Amino acid sequence: MEAALLLLLGGGLWAIVYLLSCAIHPYKICPACKKSGQSNSTTFKGAFGACRRCKGTGRRIRAGARLLGRDK
Ligand SMILES: [Zn+2]
Repeated sequence: MEAALLLLLGGGLWAIVYLLSCAIHPYKICPACKKSGQSNSTTFKGAFGACRRCKGTGRRIRAGARLLGRDK
């Protein structure tokens, strides 16, 4: 019983810290292009386009930041 309560409190605390972090740092580096914003061609050397995952911005909105409405 007590252990479950502690776990719940810990989870709530973690969620608060996470959301605070998302409010200050709403973006993370795009894992697809690693911040470059470019999608490099594997067939034609030197050819690249805008990364499709982040639309060339090189960053992705964090899930918590979207929850806070920081993506507008
Ligand atoms: Zn990207």
